[in-house]
Amino acid sequence: MDVDALRALTPGCAHRTHLNNAGAGLLSQPTLDVMLGHLRREAEIGGYEAADAARDDIAAVSVAVAELVGGAADEVALFDNATRAWNAAFYSLPLGPGDRILTGRAEYGSNVLAYLQVAKRTGAEVVVVPNDESGQLDTAALAELVDERTRLIGVSHVPTSGGLVNPAAEIGRIAREAGVLFLLDATQSVGQFPVDVEEIGCDMLSATGRKFLRGPRGTGFLWVRSTALERLDPYVAEIRAATWDGGRGFTWADGARRFETWENSYVNILGLGAAVRQALDLSLDAIAERTLALGAQLRERLDALPGVATHDLGRDRCAIVTAKVDGVPTEDVVAALARAGVNATATVPEDTQFDTEVRGVHPLVRLSPHYYNTEAELDRAVEVIAGLRR
Ligand SMILES: *Cc1c(COP(=O)(O)O)cnc(C)c1O
Repeated sequence: MDVDALRALTPGCAHRTHLNNAGAGLLSQPTLDVMLGHLRREAEIGGYEAADAARDDIAAVSVAVAELVGGAADEVALFDNATRAWNAAFYSLPLGPGDRILTGRAEYGSNVLAYLQVAKRTGAEVVVVPNDESGQLDTAALAELVDERTRLIGVSHVPTSGGLVNPAAEIGRIAREAGVLFLLDATQSVGQFPVDVEEIGCDMLSATGRKFLRGPRGTGFLWVRSTALERLDPYVAEIRAATWDGGRGFTWADGARRFETWENSYVNILGLGAAVRQALDLSLDAIAERTLALGAQLRERLDALPGVATHDLGRDRCAIVTAKVDGVPTEDVVAALARAGVNATATVPEDTQFDTEVRGVHPLVRLSPHYYNTEAELDRAVEVIAGLRR
């Protein structure tokens, strides 16, 4: 990987030490050019006309996304964020009293809120699978909890609040054996390392464009295995998702398109496509090799500082690094980093309550390098944090 060349194609690298790729990765110049070009064309010839002119490029976006996760293009639906993509799958699942949703301690806050709302509405129950001693989802406990009442296993692959990588493929094996639908929230994993729906064995996968994929904000996608379609009742019927037969009936659109809605930002969709194509061209293996190594190196160096400890759980850890500095409030750590031009964030205790409840460590400072970051940038972040304890 030619890091210097990749940095030269990333305008943000000139201005900041960007260690907030779990928040939003930096757009590359080619992605920016595709988006600005389409925006200009919309202004010059009209929005519908510009979309017509870009029809092949727009169709290629779902093809690229399918290639990225290992599915087929007609199994992909595009959304304006990962939450809506995830909602389209979850709220389409028929549930009744006594049905069970199994999830993990690392589940994303919005997903948990949706579980709680639907549980209240339908009488379904939400069961939280414990962690094993390493802090990842306990797959033995999951296997025991799966029974004839279980309708869904919903798990976050990588949480927003730490470096944990949940054992998705083991969870997939358990789901398949039981014939239970498995919805994987892959928002933090897609674009960071290879994520393959066949290897994992999930039925539905949601992700965002803006994080490790380096796409624009306001993009997301859902992949739905074609065999899972008949088990879902799409929660919104509108003119893209369905065709009105003129009387009192309608038919759903083919494939995963039945989860989409008519209006879209094609500027953003084309930007997402450019970012996905860029990741595929670099290869997810090469991206993972460098990104995960930078994460491991940062974690090791922070742990070596007196009074600093990292708090990432699990057997496999990714490039999201979370840490606490003794005697320094996390918001002050983030502010000190910002003053030094280092972009970082803090975890939000309220958004991660199953985890907050057992560990009580949040808020933590969260640093998330990507392949375009350099060792020198890690030095800078580590120096700032070391300085806080001097
Ligand atoms: C960021 C995030 C989401 C939500 O993604 P949006 O694109 O903001 O909707 C969902 N799940 C996880 C684990 C996340 O980190």
